[in-house]
This record gives sequence, C-alpha cells and structure tokens, in this order.
Amino acid sequence: MKNSDSGARAGALEVREEQDPLLHRLMPSPDPAARFFWMSGADGRLRIEQCDACEYLVHPPSGHCPRCGGDRCTPRPVSGRGTIHSYTVNYQQWFVGQPPYIIVIIDLDEQAGLRLTSNLLDCAPDDVFVGMRVSVRFLARHGVWYPVFVPSQAMESDSA
Ligand SMILES: [Zn+2]
Repeated sequence: MKNSDSGARAGALEVREEQDPLLHRLMPSPDPAARFFWMSGADGRLRIEQCDACEYLVHPPSGHCPRCGGDRCTPRPVSGRGTIHSYTVNYQQWFVGQPPYIIVIIDLDEQAGLRLTSNLLDCAPDDVFVGMRVSVRFLARHGVWYPVFVPSQAMESDSA
C-alpha cells in the first residue's frame, strides 16, 4: 500500500501538546465508507472518494455520486494542496491555558467546490486569510490520522 518513500515522514506533523487543537477532541467513529479517509494519512497522502462512473470527487465520503447518481466510488489520492475558502479563530478555552486555534474550510485543488473542514497549524491567528495556499499534513491521534493544513510556504523547504 505504501507508495511513497518520504511521504510518511513528510506528512507527519509534530506539534507541542499545548498547541495541539486535537488534544481534547473526541475521536471520530467513522462508518465503513469513511474509514479510508481517517486512515489515509498513514502513508502521508490524502485520499478523497471518487465516482467510478464519472470521476467526480465526493466529500464527505458517502458511496454515492451527487453528480451522476452512481453508487460505486473508490478512494483516490489527491495532492493535499488547496486554498482557504473560509476560516474562523476559536478563542473559547476548552481547557485552562488553551491558545486560540484556527478552523478552516479548504477548497482542494482537484475540483471546484471540493471542500474539507480542518485545522490550520503553523500559522498565527492574525496571519490567516481567505485565499491562503495550504498543504495537508497529518496528526496521528486516537488511532486515526487527522488531516490538518499548514501554509504552503512552510513546506517548500522539505518538498524537494
Ligand atoms: Zn458520478
């Protein structure tokens, strides 16, 4: 299954505990159709469900294509690159000392309107903006791989 020599290391992200937006999150309990999505980061690649008939990308995974009505879909690796469509900064402290964290909606590059809700890391709350280019990373927590995003320029040094 692993098809990347550097993908696992490049995809994994280490963050200090006090800056981990997932530290106190309840783990997802994915249904069978979505399990691939939560495990995809094990090899450093983001996967999105694709319709076998018309190749439309579908997220969240449902096993059904909203474009052609097809009911056969297969997970497909995508670039993990996208643009911030919208964001909000959470200042509510869910535990004492928790810093603000950024929740983002990402437009993935592969298809217009293909959106993913996630967290933006390695970025100060004052620096985030709509239109920012971002790249996926993964946080291994609770036995799954959470896709998170970082500003794309932060990855240029290790993408060669
Ligand atoms: Zn389709």
